[in-house]
Amino acid sequence: MNFINFTVCNINAMAGNITLTIIKPVAFSKNNAGRILSRISDAGFWIVAAKTMQLSSTEAKKFYEVHKDREFYNDLVEFMSSGPVLIVMLQKKNAVEDFRTLIGKTNPADAAEGTIRHDFGTSLRANAVHGSDSDENAIKECNFFFAEADRFYQPG
Ligand code: ADP
Ligand code: MG
Repeated sequence: MNFINFTVCNINAMAGNITLTIIKPVAFSKNNAGRILSRISDAGFWIVAAKTMQLSSTEAKKFYEVHKDREFYNDLVEFMSSGPVLIVMLQKKNAVEDFRTLIGKTNPADAAEGTIRHDFGTSLRANAVHGSDSDENAIKECNFFFAEADRFYQPG
C-alpha cells in the first residue's frame, strides 16, 4: 500500500530546486555521513535519492571533467575514487545557492564557523562534501548518478 503519492517529475522542470552532494571519502570513513545528512535535513533539504558506492577512477574522471586542465585534477580523481562515498540528490527552493552557503568555502580553513566544510573537512582536497555549482550542472550531476525511477521528490 502507498501511504504517500510521489510524483514523477521531469528533472529539467526541477531546475533551481535540486542539487547534488557527495559525502567524500574521508568524511564517509570517519562515519560522519549521518551527522552531515542531519545538518542538511535540518537546513530544509529533502532527500530525493541516495546511494553509497565507490567511484571507479573512470567515473571520478568523468564527474570532474570540468577540472581536467587544473593542476589538482589527478589528485582529486585519485582521492574521490579512494574509498566509498555517499551520493545524495537534494531538493529545496534555491537549492544550489543555499547548499553552497550551508557547506561553506572550498577550503575548510576559509569556511565560516558552523558550515559543513568548516566542521567536517580535514584539508582543501578532503573538504567533506561536494556541492553542485549551477542549476545546469546540478541536473547533469543528478543524471550522472540517478535514474528517473529512483528519484522521489518531496510530495505536495
Ligand atoms: P568546490 O568543490 O567548492 O566547487 P572546485 O569545484 O573548485 O571547488 O574544486 C573541486 C574539488 O577539488 C574541491 O571541492 C576540492 O576537493 C578539490 N580541490 C580544489 N582545489 C584544490 C587544490 N588546489 N588542491 C587540491 N584539491 C583541490
Ligand atoms: Mg565545484
